[in-house]
Amino acid sequence: MADLISLAEAQRLVLERARPLEAERVPVERAAGRVLADPAVAAVDLPPFPSSAMDGYAVRSIDVPGTLPVVGEAAAGRPVGRPLGAGEAVRISTGGVVPEGADAVVPVERTDGGTETVLVRDGLEPGAHVRGRGGDVRAGTTVLEPGVLLGPAQVAGLAAAGIAEVRCTKRPRAAILVTGSELREPGAELGPGEIYESNALLLASALGAAGAVPAQLGVVADDREELERALERALPAFDLVVTSGGASVGPHDLVREVLGGLRVEEVFWGVALKPGKPVAFGVRRDHLVFNLPGNPVSVLVTFELLVRPAVNALLGLPDPLPRFATGSLAAAVRRNPARDEFVRARLRHGGDGPVLDPLAGQESHMIARSAAAEALVAVEAGADELPAGAQVRYLPL
Ligand code: AMP
Ligand code: MG
Repeated sequence: MADLISLAEAQRLVLERARPLEAERVPVERAAGRVLADPAVAAVDLPPFPSSAMDGYAVRSIDVPGTLPVVGEAAAGRPVGRPLGAGEAVRISTGGVVPEGADAVVPVERTDGGTETVLVRDGLEPGAHVRGRGGDVRAGTTVLEPGVLLGPAQVAGLAAAGIAEVRCTKRPRAAILVTGSELREPGAELGPGEIYESNALLLASALGAAGAVPAQLGVVADDREELERALERALPAFDLVVTSGGASVGPHDLVREVLGGLRVEEVFWGVALKPGKPVAFGVRRDHLVFNLPGNPVSVLVTFELLVRPAVNALLGLPDPLPRFATGSLAAAVRRNPARDEFVRARLRHGGDGPVLDPLAGQESHMIARSAAAEALVAVEAGADELPAGAQVRYLPL
């Protein structure tokens, strides 16, 4: 691993190869969390009719102030069914259809009486308290552009505009394959030299939250044939294969070699990153393979910096790289001379903005300590230390 590439270069190489997946039709009620592939066009005017913004009376503005006969009622979903004549009022609810002929709604609080006749105390501007037809959006116009991640406001907007189905990028199918003869399932009895497996859970949760569909392929021992069988099966079936462990330089680190035999082109191996240096990335046609290191904290960090951007790009998000925020360090941090370090920290909001407090215990096996982390702080490579109070970039976790 003589020449490490920079993190920025590694991210560039990943994004060069992670192209948006094809699109599929998705019912709007299942579209939350998906990324729009085509413009979403309103099917109806919204509101579809002039609609009352208040409970009150629909009137002609030229007829008020004055006392008017109440000739009918328009509740939401139940129009009055006839136009409003000169000098008339129609009782109306919020969301009711403002009848033809009426041009304003007087709120009930500004009236007296009300069943047979209503006294409207003040004058009204034309259009008062009427939500105009198409005032939110017009049929045929674009509600949302491609590349938008559909969240609560977006799916509500689509549904309201009469869009029952949208075209979204497919969710990437992601295989998780962890390697190591020492790994045992949580709950099993540990034999000599064994530890509990944690990377598969970490990856499944992270991939699912990122919008991929994770599949657990289980734990594979450090055995060439077993690895080959598992990877050979995974490669054609998944858009993304994420392995952990066995990517370093030990005699049992077989993953890269096995992948080479399966015609996976290695794009890079070794990034000037701490933790996570021995991370490798390869491709076979449009299938992406990440070989993450085995140490769980390295998995956490390399997922955020390399795998998540790949998932974002496969989903068609236009801005797939991590979005850093800035804050200040609560305590001094020594810099690594050669590698950018991502330090796990607590995050609190002080008077002058976010404050990052590095956790005690920054070694790459310390996943239990990392469980308290709320942020990854980017500490760029350098000779000296960053003093307390220094401005830093961080990724919220
Ligand atoms: P490796 O990259 O395979 O050399 O693994 C580096 C370290 O991470 C070793 O201490 C492994 O035991 C540990 N490790 C590897 N895979 C996992 C895993 N899935 N869960 C927890 N620890 C792991
Ligand atoms: Mg191993």
